[in-house]
Amino acid sequence: MGAEFDLIARYFSRPVPSRFLGGGDDCALMPVEPGLQLAVSTDLLIEGRHFFPGSEPRALGHKALAVNVSDLAAMGAQPLACVLGLSLPKVDDAWLAGFADGFYALADQFQCPLVGGDTTRGQQGICISVTVFGQVDPARALRRSAAQAGDDIWVSGTLGAAYVALLLQLGEIGPDDAMLAATRTAMEQPTPPLQFAMSLAGVARAALDISDGLAQDLGHILKASRCGAQLNLPALPLDPAIRGLPETLKKQAALGGGDVYQLCFTAAARQRDTIVELAAASATPVTRIGTITAEPGLVLRDEDGHLSPCSIDGFDHFSS
Ligand code: ADP
Ligand code: MG
Repeated sequence: MGAEFDLIARYFSRPVPSRFLGGGDDCALMPVEPGLQLAVSTDLLIEGRHFFPGSEPRALGHKALAVNVSDLAAMGAQPLACVLGLSLPKVDDAWLAGFADGFYALADQFQCPLVGGDTTRGQQGICISVTVFGQVDPARALRRSAAQAGDDIWVSGTLGAAYVALLLQLGEIGPDDAMLAATRTAMEQPTPPLQFAMSLAGVARAALDISDGLAQDLGHILKASRCGAQLNLPALPLDPAIRGLPETLKKQAALGGGDVYQLCFTAAARQRDTIVELAAASATPVTRIGTITAEPGLVLRDEDGHLSPCSIDGFDHFSS
């Protein structure tokens, strides 16, 4: 046990702001502003499933927190703090130092201090569990069930880069070192558009973060909101790094590619100017990609105006 406390003291005990009671006690304490509610989300990252064995630890520390903050962003919530559960097969100081640096750098950037956690020796493979806490006005929170027929559909950032980086790493396409260099940051160190997302609370209607692919994730909004959508294919903001790929692969990357950690959201047409202004204020690219329809189902509109039902699936952890 001595080694465990030593490890926590060395790597995961950086100071927290004075309004928190941080690590060292049995619970962390954090203040929530009157009238707001706690927003909580948790995610697991398992070696061999969510990241390659031997992944760069700094990038992994970044990603472990980024995918969680992405869930707060998707609700329009402001981060308060996070906790970190770690199961490690062995104590590797170089790995821990890199991981902690990547994690704390993003925690500082998002003002989401690490206030506690749990550390244990595990059997095989690294297992990382992060829980984030945020606060949001429940009347302004962005919910999946809030889309309405006639809403515009928007996405932030670009699509497809993380998916293409994954295919390149798996050797399913390529090799193409230049394309891998241009896409791997999207896969290894995604940075959710938190400021922009927080500014959308009360402006947008429904929102989520794209983790399993645009088509599948938008499907969650459509189901929860009991409506359908028409997507304008030529409008999808493909990442410039993957422009050279064949059309079918680009379409699959844009509609089915996961690990994006950007927002898909809906908003009334009268909010268009406001949304463009908010995006500019946080230097976030934003693109209008379609419309919510009263008829259920996801329909794709190609450059010639032809309509076809969407047949692209995203990622499903239990499908294989
Ligand atoms: P307990 O026995 O109450 O579970 P622990 O011995 O597991 O407490 O942890 C001691 C303290 O160190 C706690 O305050 C806990 O929040 C903190 N801690 C443990 N692991 C981590 C970690 N990976 N990151 C941040 N804080 C941690
Ligand atoms: Mg413990």
